[in-house]
Order: sequence, then C-alpha cells, then structure tokens
Amino acid sequence: MAAPLRLLGRLAVVTGGGSGIGRAVAQRLAREGAAVAVVDLNDSAANETVQTLSSDQLGHEHAAFVADVSASENVERLMNQIQSRFSRPPCISVNSAGVTMDEFLLRQTEEAFDLVLKVNLKGTFLITQAVARALVASGTTRGSIINIGSIVGKVGNVGQTNYAASKAGVEALTKTAAKELARYGIRCNTVLPGFIDTPMTEKVPQKVLDKFAGMIPLGRLGNPSDVADVCAFLASDDSGYITGASIEVTGGVFL
Ligand code: NAD
Repeated sequence: MAAPLRLLGRLAVVTGGGSGIGRAVAQRLAREGAAVAVVDLNDSAANETVQTLSSDQLGHEHAAFVADVSASENVERLMNQIQSRFSRPPCISVNSAGVTMDEFLLRQTEEAFDLVLKVNLKGTFLITQAVARALVASGTTRGSIINIGSIVGKVGNVGQTNYAASKAGVEALTKTAAKELARYGIRCNTVLPGFIDTPMTEKVPQKVLDKFAGMIPLGRLGNPSDVADVCAFLASDDSGYITGASIEVTGGVFL
C-alpha cells in the first residue's frame, strides 16, 4: 500500500540512518514526502541509504552526512552542514544511532559502560539540543523530535546494564525536553522497540533470539519497518497532540 504524503515539504534528519531501524525510518519518511538528511558514523552506509531514497518520485533531494553523534563538535558541524545544504533546520529529527556492548554486570568494564552511555544517551542529548536550538532560532512553530529508546530501558535485560541504563536515560531526557519545548511547538517522543531484526540483533545468539521470539505475543521479531511506521506517525501532524509519550513497538512483549 502506498504511504500517505503526510510529510511533504518537510526536512528530516535521521541519525544511525545507515542501517537497520534508521535506514527504514529514512525510507519511510522519504516515501511520505520528506527530504532526508541521513547521518551515520559509517560514510558508505549513509550513502547507500541515500541511494535507496533516490528513486523518490517527488523529486526531493536527500543527502548523506558523516558524524559521530556523541561528539559535540561533530554535531555542531553536522547542523551547520545540514542548514547550508537545505537552507533550513530539520523540523523532524529521528535519533536512531545506538550501540550495544553486552556483558554481565559482574564482568562489565568501565570503558564499555562509558561508551554505550556516550553514544546512546549523550548522543541523543546532543542531537536533541542541536535540533531544538536550530528550530527555536528559526522561529518555527512546529517540530517533532523522536528518540529511539528500548523496551529494555523499562524492564532491564540480562547482559545489558549499560544499554538498559542508557535507554532509560533517553526516555527521561525526551520527556523533559517535551515539557521544555512544548511552548515552541516542538513535540518530543520516544519509541521503545522490542526485538527488531537488524544488524544489531544479528550479534545475539540464535538460541537467545528463538527464546525471545517465543515470548512475543504477536509471534515474531519486529521488522525495522514496524518501527518506521510509528516514527512516521510521530513525525506527522496525525500525532499533533502527543508529546512526552513513549510508544512501545514490541509485538506485545512485557517482560
Ligand atoms: P544498527 O546497528 O543496525 O544501526 C545503528 C546505526 O547507528 C549504525 O549504522 C551505526 O553505524 C550507527 N552509529 C553507531 N554509533 C554511532 C555514532 N556514534 N554516531 C553516528 N552513528 C552511529 O542498529 P538498529 O537495530 O537499527 O538500532 C537502531 C536504534 O534502535 C538503536 O538506538 C538501538 O539501540 C535501538 N533499538 C534496537 C532494537 C533492536 O532489536 N534492533 C531494539 C530496541 C532499540
């Protein structure tokens, strides 16, 4: 079924857009009419995503950008690059860049804890702040910031103390940003995926994935497009009265 054109004329930035959920989000937003700035640490992956968007019938231009979302100077440069390329700030931001470094608490290293918090939580902070600052400076009255958290930020998960803590932080950060930015017409929401079939979950042993799949009421792992559908809704005016919310996309899992 053809996607509706709810985002015609809007500019979106999607971090982690070179893979998995971020790539599916970029594709979905483009299909709904948005121009997309695809951001990733991985240059060729970001460019590959843009290639998949170029068949867009609407003639919108999309562009790839390389940035490490966890480094403030990278994020500052990124926002300048996007604004000079598109002559406006993005009014939609989907922050999907994220990493895992799984290990049991008893063996977790300080380095692995710091790195996961730095990318997942600080990266979300930097992107949210940079987009909000640019939108407020432009005098906008409309914006939608969507941060990708995780269901494990709510319920925990064995081997993921660092990751679960980072994702709980993403949810709290987003709820607070929602309260502060509502006066500017900027909505902020978190999407909490469950187990989604992406390169990130390819690292998980098949035995563990099978066990998780058996616990999902809808009977399957999620697809990146399942998450992208919800992001497109949150990006659009169809969710105009929703801010500070966390939407679970888990196939019904509650652990
Ligand atoms: P993925 O590994 O397929 O994609 C993540 C992308 O982020 C990669 O392209 C990677 O290069 C990029 N990235 C990593 N560090 C970065 C950095 N510092 N700066 C810029 N880009 C960076 O993973 P995915 O499964 O698509 O996950 C996307 C998001 O969804 C993540 O935030 C993840 O935590 C979250 N999530 C995934 C699942 C799942 O089951 N796959 C579940 C819940 C939440």
